[in-house]
Amino acid sequence: MKLKPPINLAWIRFTSCSGCQLMLLNCESSLTELARIVAIRDFPLASSTLGKNAEIDIGLVEGSITTPSELERLLAFRRKVHLLVAVGACALTAGVNSLVRGERRQAMTKVYAGQGDDWNTFPPQPVDHFVKVDGQIPGCPPEPGELLNSIGTLLNGGWAGHQVMPVCMECRVNENPCLLERDRAPCLGPITLAGCNARCPNLGVSCEGCRGVVAEANRDELCRLFLAAGLTEQEINHRLERFGETT
Ligand code: SF4
Ligand code: SF4
Repeated sequence: MKLKPPINLAWIRFTSCSGCQLMLLNCESSLTELARIVAIRDFPLASSTLGKNAEIDIGLVEGSITTPSELERLLAFRRKVHLLVAVGACALTAGVNSLVRGERRQAMTKVYAGQGDDWNTFPPQPVDHFVKVDGQIPGCPPEPGELLNSIGTLLNGGWAGHQVMPVCMECRVNENPCLLERDRAPCLGPITLAGCNARCPNLGVSCEGCRGVVAEANRDELCRLFLAAGLTEQEINHRLERFGETT
């Protein structure tokens, strides 16, 4: 059902780098039109909170959940939001925040040396571990066009479908040489959801899998190719776990 004005939109941020917010702010020429259609109630990177207690029609969530206070804020947000959309890899899979290898406490001590050790945190979790998510926008960060398209479709009562192909298909369309084949590079394009127009392989850089895993991904075959390219099982696991995938 098409949302009726006035439409309230809010962005909430948890553990993240704010890169997803920045991508929306980068859609400069479209922002005035967006602001004409929706009332932006909160957007941490660009404004202070406006209308803290307003009911929210579209709530965009960035970041993974890593502390009890973040969890409380998320639950409170869910209660006042009609449609909740998880934006970016941090919110969808815990993303790069979940990359701590080995013992977490040891890593915290190393990074925050001398700042005490009473961190009230838990391993980063995706948003849908705690609340119902009505839509997802993948990517680290998401593509600006996909952000606008998703918000625009929601305003009109629908939901923008995402690609069902892997990044490899975009490489074929763009006539990129296959990095896996040519350079034996550990490219994750074969199992990664398309939609970025093969942004990294277009530049000769392996796909890191930031958009998450495509449906029906053939992980076994990719692992076989990686082993044949000389990667160890541990190296393969490290690559796959970056965006929440393990063998
Ligand atoms: S998904 Fe990527 S760009 Fe977005 S907040 Fe997380 S780390 Fe930053
Ligand atoms: S090529 Fe891979 S890592 Fe690069 S933007 Fe696309 S999905 Fe993300």
